[in-house]
Amino acid sequence: MRRILPPGSTIGVLGSGQLGRMFTIAARRMGYRVHTLSPDEDTPTGQVADVEVRAAYDDLDAVRAFASRVDAVTFEFENIPSASIEACAQRVPVHPRAEVLHITQHRLREKTFLSKNGFPCAPFRHVRSLAELEEAARSIGLPAVLKTAGFGYDGKGQSLLRSMQDLEPAWRSIGAAEAVLEQFIDFECELSVVAARSQTGDFAHFGACLNTHVRHILDVTLAPAPVEPRIAREAVEIARAILEALGVVGVLCVEFFLARNGKLLVNELAPRPHNSGHFSFDACITSQFEQQLRAVCGLPLGSTEQMRPAAMANLLGDLWSRGEPDWAGAASFPDVKLHLYGKLEPRPGRKMGHLTALARAVELAREQVLAARRALTPPEQG
Ligand code: AMP
Repeated sequence: MRRILPPGSTIGVLGSGQLGRMFTIAARRMGYRVHTLSPDEDTPTGQVADVEVRAAYDDLDAVRAFASRVDAVTFEFENIPSASIEACAQRVPVHPRAEVLHITQHRLREKTFLSKNGFPCAPFRHVRSLAELEEAARSIGLPAVLKTAGFGYDGKGQSLLRSMQDLEPAWRSIGAAEAVLEQFIDFECELSVVAARSQTGDFAHFGACLNTHVRHILDVTLAPAPVEPRIAREAVEIARAILEALGVVGVLCVEFFLARNGKLLVNELAPRPHNSGHFSFDACITSQFEQQLRAVCGLPLGSTEQMRPAAMANLLGDLWSRGEPDWAGAASFPDVKLHLYGKLEPRPGRKMGHLTALARAVELAREQVLAARRALTPPEQG
């Protein structure tokens, strides 16, 4: 059933990172109020929200009090305990619904959902002991990737297994009681589709993007992905079917491997706006963040038409290793937009911001965004 929340309503966001910040910026632009809850303070989201609540995600009294002051709840990262989502759902609508979060916050449940529903993904096995790992490695074959079953992102809790000798140290290093062993995919490239589904079941997508990672962290996104149109269309159709099967209301990102044999395999689902969709903030009529807001508030989805090809490059904390980046250097690229998330401490590997370049062609956008990022690094002192 559709429930329209008009501008002036208050949206609660569980989580307080950059995704919540950009969601809040989109929401405030349309006249909504935003409350955010997380264990931190002076957060990327809290800095732009109306109210910042500091509490642990499993502090059910705090979560209930938070939910009772808002008109709907959404989340900006997956690792929220189910009990907290349920506590919210007893008071106000939660989008996407708790079941979507339950499936996607756990790798094994997610892969089981995908394979049961006939979506293509890498062959995998559930492992609970070293003996099961050995058996799984024999049946799947090596190389393979061992991943913790729950709570992992950006390559955390993963180990590449090349030979049977790697099994024991890998099992010890992930330190988990439950894991997934997955066939290693020799991929041509990684793609993603960020898409949205409304309360009335309408679907909209931002096309297929090409993603490159460095040390398991997204580095650069090209939109649209320079791949055969057939591949891009197929990726969008898979995404459409996944959002439908999950009954998502909101934005969800499907990450894919394009295997060397031309087959698309789903790697991961993220039930929220995604780093690979950041380009939409500057390049599309409706951004992924506004789309999330529209879905949560029961509004019709906006046009995802992309006005110009775009490239997005992440800015990690490493960029600060030689001091404050040269912001004027990056600002000298007139077609490049700077986004900073207001994080106070630039730790290595921490996502501090991103750049988006718009150009006539996606390859030109890539050159621009990389040149602008290089310009941020101050020259070495002689
Ligand atoms: P994930 O956290 O599962 O998204 O993995 C992070 C990154 O590790 C992916 O974006 C890939 O670059 C790489 N990776 C993960 N699983 C596999 C696999 N089965 N085969 C090859 N590379 C993988």
